[in-house]
Amino acid sequence: MSYVDEVYDRVVKQNPGEGEFHQAVKEVLDSLRIVIEANEEKFRKAALLERLVEPERIISFRVPWVDDNGQVRVNKGFRVQFNSAIGPYKGGLRLHPSVNQGILKFLGFEQTFKNSLTGLPIGGGKGGSDFDPKGKSDREVMAFCQSFMTELSKYIGADQDVPAGDIGVGAREIGFLYGQYKRMTGLYEGVLTGKGLTYGGSLVRTQATGYGLIYILDEMLRHNGKELEGKSVVISGSGNVAIYASEKAIQLGAKVVALSDSNGYIYDKNGIRLEVIKEIKEVRRGRIKEYADEVASAVYTEGKGIWTIPCDIALPCATQNELNLEDAKALKANGCFAVAEGANMPSTREATDFFLENGMLFMPGKAANAGGVATSALEMSQNSLRLSWTFEEVDKKLHDIMVGIYEKTAKAAKRYGVKGNYVAGANIAGFEKVVEAMMAQGIV
Ligand code: NDP
Repeated sequence: MSYVDEVYDRVVKQNPGEGEFHQAVKEVLDSLRIVIEANEEKFRKAALLERLVEPERIISFRVPWVDDNGQVRVNKGFRVQFNSAIGPYKGGLRLHPSVNQGILKFLGFEQTFKNSLTGLPIGGGKGGSDFDPKGKSDREVMAFCQSFMTELSKYIGADQDVPAGDIGVGAREIGFLYGQYKRMTGLYEGVLTGKGLTYGGSLVRTQATGYGLIYILDEMLRHNGKELEGKSVVISGSGNVAIYASEKAIQLGAKVVALSDSNGYIYDKNGIRLEVIKEIKEVRRGRIKEYADEVASAVYTEGKGIWTIPCDIALPCATQNELNLEDAKALKANGCFAVAEGANMPSTREATDFFLENGMLFMPGKAANAGGVATSALEMSQNSLRLSWTFEEVDKKLHDIMVGIYEKTAKAAKRYGVKGNYVAGANIAGFEKVVEAMMAQGIV
């Protein structure tokens, strides 16, 4: 049996019930086969893959807090410190009822390669809780965040592990978490990114994942003789990534016609009005269907189905496995020619294979959504320097980083004879740097 298959079987056996983690490992190892087979003896002897798929550490803890009725509630808290070969652990915190250890392991594993691709010195980590911030009062969210950080603060630090936002964790939550970290440790340091601008946050961090997604999409289109201007775009989700991907796509002349949330989706043939979306989602914390109540040209549909809307470009920006084979076929049949993933692993393996086999341009999340963590690393730099860069400075660095990721990804694919396969390219380019650092650091 090949080394890759042996390690994958071992992952399935040793991590029962963690389907998303198995899926992420399989996708990465399959696309690395060519590289691994060329170095099989060396990697086997060093048990390199066995070490790569095993998190360095997982912290799992109880998060008790009191709701507005005086009732004590208990959630599960986690931090997966996956790989620190090239820098301190870095990766978001997710607050969503679906969170479990397997999902955070998949995200931490992916994060390791993504962070490597950015070219910045950051390792891979991820954390979160099954707490659901939806429908909770500000006080309840604060009580949860304070309890969560009381425990987490023992394991993180500016040079050790630097969490950030993810699903369910935005500026409000980062503020509460930061306040509690400072209170617990007495340290005013860059331990979290996505902070408010008045206490060490970086300009462009809010926009970074969405903007970065469009920067790399634009680069991919241009290298394949196409352009973004005038194209119709369907984006799933209506959170941080979806909103700022929409903003940049519109700025560059595209027309965004649909957005969604976990209840349903809106279609606006005139192109969505982002100021209305921002008011609903960022100010009122409302539901996407309210858009159709306010904008006459829009139609709301309850449930899934956003990928049946005809478009040139599809950008899944909600969550994992939200786009399956049937969706991929519907996109292709309706004329879609490019897909770039704002979310982490939003396309199932079958959908990804379909895109690649049918000549569609496909940029995987690992490369496409790396702008968020890259700008987080820029926030860390500014915190260490005790400086703040201007919006234009950070935006330019973000743009250059995304162009750099495109180049590394495209070149790695070409080097291994799979030109245009950005899935393989991103995995190979991310892997090479981590492996070199791991081999240099001995058996750890
Ligand atoms: P937000 O919480 O801001 O928004 C998430 C959006 O996706 C919401 O519209 C939410 O709808 C929808 N959504 C979440 N879960 C589901 C689900 N199970 N089914 C359908 N819709 C769902 O999160 P972000 O925008 O920050 O994150 C979106 C994705 O991008 C995630 O995969 C995240 O890991 C990834 N990402 C985020 C980065 C960042 O910087 N924020 C960086 C890199 C990747 P509802 O409100 O109804 O729940």
